[in-house]
Amino acid sequence: MADRVRFGPAGNPLDFKGPTVEAPIYIREEGLDAYEYQAVRGVRIKEEVARELGKNAKENDVYVSLHGPYYINLSSDKKETFKKSKERLLDSMRAAMWMGARKVVFHPGYYGEKTPEEALKMCIEAIREVVEMAKAEGIKGVLLAPETTGKLSQLGSLDEILTMCEQVELVCPTIDWAHVHAREQGLIKGRKEYEKILDEIEKRLGSDVLKDLHCHFTKVEFTDKGEKTHRLLSEKEFGPPFEPFAELIVELGLKPVIISESPTLDRDAINMKKIYERISKKGKKKPTRKKRKR
Ligand SMILES: [Zn+2]
Repeated sequence: MADRVRFGPAGNPLDFKGPTVEAPIYIREEGLDAYEYQAVRGVRIKEEVARELGKNAKENDVYVSLHGPYYINLSSDKKETFKKSKERLLDSMRAAMWMGARKVVFHPGYYGEKTPEEALKMCIEAIREVVEMAKAEGIKGVLLAPETTGKLSQLGSLDEILTMCEQVELVCPTIDWAHVHAREQGLIKGRKEYEKILDEIEKRLGSDVLKDLHCHFTKVEFTDKGEKTHRLLSEKEFGPPFEPFAELIVELGLKPVIISESPTLDRDAINMKKIYERISKKGKKKPTRKKRKR
């Protein structure tokens, strides 16, 4: 489990020009402590490079996750795509193990011509198969973390993601709050909506999973089809709002890893961290609150 609330960018920081293996060093220097390596256009990293990246992350106390390829589609009708999707997910798990990344984030697939039930069933079978393949190969210490997706054509509602986690071992959720917000046409107005979702996760997957949540966060613009554009944290006219989530993190003692997918990546990760720290300090002054270990 993550030892504290951690913040970091999805991919390399905005102004970072060095080789990717050095990204964790830069992230640490900025005061951040998480990094989501992007294998979104394919898992091409070599073992040696992945291990070096992992070493730099470990030495700098930066938590690493890996985002798998976008073209994974575990509910595809095309045999070849379906087969390749499973291979790509397995490749992601292998690379994650090399770099010491604990979770492989991925978008499960598309409904296509299928009903949501059929697509979900097919996807769950595929995930099960990949978990078996990973075990057979000796891949250890890596969890699969399917993500709540932002478009209505994509498999990945909150309910579907939680069902995947319930039904397959070594699977835990990635909650992309902007995606939930966009998919549900501006659902998250404030504390109440966050509370409801967090409750649902705890009820279905238990409090350990809730405390150890992997999250993506950005403000988002959407249409009736779902996600359109990521927006800056400072753009008040767009949701979801970050403050009520930060308040609940403090109150419930959660230790999520929060990956910023804002257009300014690490800069907004720093802004989120500042908001969280401000709320956390305020929270601790209340006499009824137990002291938390640091
Ligand atoms: Zn994603």
